[in-house]
Amino acid sequence: MSTTGTPANTELVFLPLGGIGEIGLNAYLYGIGPADDRQWLMIDCGITFPDDTEPGVDIVLPDLRFIEEERKSLAGILITHAHEDHIGAVAEMWPRLRAPVYVTKFAAHLLKSKLQEHSHAAEVPIIEMAQGSRFKIGQFDVDLVTVSHSIPESNSVFLRTPAGNVLHTGDWKFDDTPGFGDPTDEAKLARLGDEGVRVLVCDSTNALVEGKSATEAAVGENLKAVIARAKGRIAITTFASNVNRLTAIAEAARAAGRELVLVGRAMHRIVMAARDTGLWPEHLTYFDQDSFASIPRDKVAALVTGSQGEVLAALARIAKGEHPLVKFDRGDSIVFSSRTIPGNEDGVIRIQNQLAERGISIVTEAPDGPIHASGHPRKGELTRLYRLARPHYLLPMHGEPRHLEAHASFAEAHGIMAVRGVRDGRMFHLGPSDPHLIDADVPIGRLYRDGNLILKSGDPAIVQRRRLSWNGHIAVSVVLQRNGEFAAEPEIGVNGVPMSDAEGLDMGERALSAVYNAVESIPRSRRKDRELIRDAVRRSIRAEMKLVWGKKPVCSVLVSIL
Ligand SMILES: [Zn+2]
Ligand SMILES: [Zn+2]
Repeated sequence: MSTTGTPANTELVFLPLGGIGEIGLNAYLYGIGPADDRQWLMIDCGITFPDDTEPGVDIVLPDLRFIEEERKSLAGILITHAHEDHIGAVAEMWPRLRAPVYVTKFAAHLLKSKLQEHSHAAEVPIIEMAQGSRFKIGQFDVDLVTVSHSIPESNSVFLRTPAGNVLHTGDWKFDDTPGFGDPTDEAKLARLGDEGVRVLVCDSTNALVEGKSATEAAVGENLKAVIARAKGRIAITTFASNVNRLTAIAEAARAAGRELVLVGRAMHRIVMAARDTGLWPEHLTYFDQDSFASIPRDKVAALVTGSQGEVLAALARIAKGEHPLVKFDRGDSIVFSSRTIPGNEDGVIRIQNQLAERGISIVTEAPDGPIHASGHPRKGELTRLYRLARPHYLLPMHGEPRHLEAHASFAEAHGIMAVRGVRDGRMFHLGPSDPHLIDADVPIGRLYRDGNLILKSGDPAIVQRRRLSWNGHIAVSVVLQRNGEFAAEPEIGVNGVPMSDAEGLDMGERALSAVYNAVESIPRSRRKDRELIRDAVRRSIRAEMKLVWGKKPVCSVLVSIL
């Protein structure tokens, strides 16, 4: 690629703050200009969900402190699509960035409704762009390319810069028959290929999978056959945000002479957003869950949230027979039109077992063909994109290391140079020279939304909580007189520790004797040193517990001297 005409000081850099090395938490920065005067564009600002090492955390947000410090040079935040891993952090993080937010209509609708929970809602400049449009964000020349995915209005982003052009795919797939949605704009991709794609920054989620994704139209046909065969009540659970799938299910229910009932808050929210933005076909009527009981058994089809086994979602309550309005019994069926995301298997299996115990049939596949399709490109689709865009370099994103490495090798096998070693917090030069690492340790991390607070990266609360969950807690209050004698019997509080040891002795009593031993081993003259007493008591209790229980609880000791 020629670099003639590129101003000597114009450099294009790329910095992921989240999303490379994990699936989720997408937050990518592009920077143009010289190192001391760069302008930045953020593409996506998403969340992820906590894993089992992060107990009690509601959601995980990306640590954006790098760009918070540079926020005067942040030209805007551009959102590719409305999945939570791409848009979910905007409402919460915006006050730290205060840049305009660029979104398409459907995502804008969902973002605005989410912002209503925040006091800064009115301050956020939300700029709606049309799909396929070209516009400027600061110095960035942005051109959107419509792509198929598993939510309406997904976009790839083409950036024309003096240091070379980048095609940032966002989440995408090829689906030539997407049902109600738009197919990927192949003609535009080919035109951009003609114009020149220096770097393809591309979704790696399914880079390990051969072949090509099933099409939504085929999934819709297969679901239609499943619904047509059903005898009793039927419910279909899927990701609420997949509006194409929802409309296909609504169409299938209609064809089978069944009334569609929406069950679960997220299902309502998405269908409302789709209706308000013109994405829901008007002839597809639906009922609220209040109507479920009044519709005859063989005339109802419910769309239900909770395909990932979420304990608070509608499906979990139906499976336990605890849903106040929606009851399923022997002879009814529940269809899983979804893939179980790794990490959620236990929850999904628990629900399926509960359904099976109650005689409800579980449908996870159909003889006719797939009843779910992924929203991400498999190898066959990646090669189709390579042929259209003809990139010089491939930079794999949206993947765990195993996906990124597989994607890099796959591109190299197709004669495309891979930019390897890109991870969150590593800034890369993308042009005009060959891509290379320029800063290996930009600060990044995970922020936790914990109740009403956002905890900083590295807040010890979560580590402590993990320890408490494994080892329990013993609290002791020691009150001494000035002469070193006990003023009262120490008080002990025990949580998450077994009640008694192998001989049946009370664990609180065992802890109490450890407290006396520890204090009495300290000469009376030195019993004014609170720190010394605290340490001795803590050590003594932990040693005693180790001896009888084999585990050391977390120990809090409060010492007062009268
Ligand atoms: Zn997505
Ligand atoms: Zn995604």
